[in-house]
Amino acid sequence: MSHLILRWTVILWSILIINGCNQQQAATEAKAATPPAKTFTWKMVTTWPPNFPIFQEGVMQLAKDIEAMSGGRLKIQVYAGGELVPALQTFDAVSQGTVQMGHGAAYYWAGKVPAAQFMTAVPFGMTAKGMNAWFYGGGGLELWRELYQPFNVVPFPAGNSGVQMAGWFNKKIQTVDDLKGLKMRIPGLGGKVLAKAGGTPVLLAGGEIYTALERGTIDATEWVGPYHDERLGLYRAAKYYYYPGWHEPGTVLELIVNAQAWATLPYDLQRIIEIAARSLNQWMYSQFEALNIKALHELKEKYKVDVLPLPKEVLNELKRLTKEALAEEAEKSADFKRVYETFEKFRQEHDAWTAIADDAYSDALK
Ligand code: CA
Repeated sequence: MSHLILRWTVILWSILIINGCNQQQAATEAKAATPPAKTFTWKMVTTWPPNFPIFQEGVMQLAKDIEAMSGGRLKIQVYAGGELVPALQTFDAVSQGTVQMGHGAAYYWAGKVPAAQFMTAVPFGMTAKGMNAWFYGGGGLELWRELYQPFNVVPFPAGNSGVQMAGWFNKKIQTVDDLKGLKMRIPGLGGKVLAKAGGTPVLLAGGEIYTALERGTIDATEWVGPYHDERLGLYRAAKYYYYPGWHEPGTVLELIVNAQAWATLPYDLQRIIEIAARSLNQWMYSQFEALNIKALHELKEKYKVDVLPLPKEVLNELKRLTKEALAEEAEKSADFKRVYETFEKFRQEHDAWTAIADDAYSDALK
């Protein structure tokens, strides 16, 4: 009996060993037949200064993450604004295929794609929560892809500043009349609304803001939020820090990819980019939220900044003027009109939900 068991064991082992050898051989043959995985080396340009915290910092991490997740099959060389092309030529460089990838904000391309402003921020638009819901669950991203398609560009949401601050002022804003004659650095649609309120919007790059405010060339400025505003030292140039950022309630940043370059990628690398962009979107928003808490505290406690709410009457008037400004833009562009209507429908539905979700909960805490 034991002899029989031994014999069967030997046979069984032989089968397993032969089988194992066959498998090994098959694997070796398959390896020889599969060409080595293609590697891609891409160039990426951004609209941000080198080492710009959160913004450029997040982009550098994105490139590292993509390289790691792809096992080195997709390498991305990142260039800050001006290093390879001027910051505001990022969209053109990606569109023309000079580079494969870019990072910036869609409202910078308003001159080319007016409706793109809805993909970044419009005054009295949605917060980060609403924008993300619209993009990932409400058809917003499909609409964005459609808008960029004629330009050969594939967009992804990739960052959000959260609600910005209304800005720094050298006089108190108590009524709408206080905005009359006010020279303020405020770009885009927010600037158009300020002009309607009797102010003068001024366009200035980040690096010029502090000096202009300090020397009185401008009376007021908006920038980002407490964290970036503190780093720029704006508390040394103005007395009053107003909120909320009615003009930029949840500014979305974008990752853009040249459509042909995108099409050459295998599916797994496309998924890696898509998911890395989602991760960056969440990472940047979390950084802004966490660092703004600390910076606001310092501005108030250490630098004794007067942090004030814009009066409701002023906000209501700005809201009324925003509707006028958006209607005027819609007259000029059919795409703007179409996207505005879709955006507005989602915003209203989202507001109704937010009223009984977040807003009611915030009230309950008071
Ligand atoms: Ca801003």
